[in-house]
Amino acid sequence: MSNIEQTLSIIKPDAVERNLENEIKEIFKNNGFSIVKEKKIQIEKSEAEIFYKVHETKPFFNELCAYLSSGPIVVMVLEKDNAVLRNRELMGATNPKDAEEGTIRKKYGISIDKNSVHGSDSVDNAKIEINFFFKD
Ligand code: UDP
Ligand code: MG
Repeated sequence: MSNIEQTLSIIKPDAVERNLENEIKEIFKNNGFSIVKEKKIQIEKSEAEIFYKVHETKPFFNELCAYLSSGPIVVMVLEKDNAVLRNRELMGATNPKDAEEGTIRKKYGISIDKNSVHGSDSVDNAKIEINFFFKD
């Protein structure tokens, strides 16, 4: 049975800065994802703080929000069968050092903070995150 889902993906500032936007989009398309919405934006730190609210008690929260708002990002809605999980698999582990061969973070990630891409971690969070960036 098919289970078409949508998930939120972000190409983070370190990857946009290195002009990896098109390469990373090709990887998504080659892996069967449709990019149904996309925009290139730069967000305020205050917006990053809302987006990453689940991490507000973590020691890396301040740097994380400063980083996500430090330069242009590409925000996309990806669609595919089981998109949330499939995207997490394609992204690889949070720390690029732990990411498997063939994953986006293994290929492009610089460090645990500059790990090139974001992806929603559950269907519920995907809905919240898509709504955050693409309110109709
Ligand atoms: N992060 C960090 N230091 C850490 C853990 C996470 O800078 O020790 C950053 C990293 O950019 C990560 C983001 O915080 O992508 C969100 O963390 P999460 O645990 O949700 O990882 P993800 O879902 O992105 O794999
Ligand atoms: Mg996460």
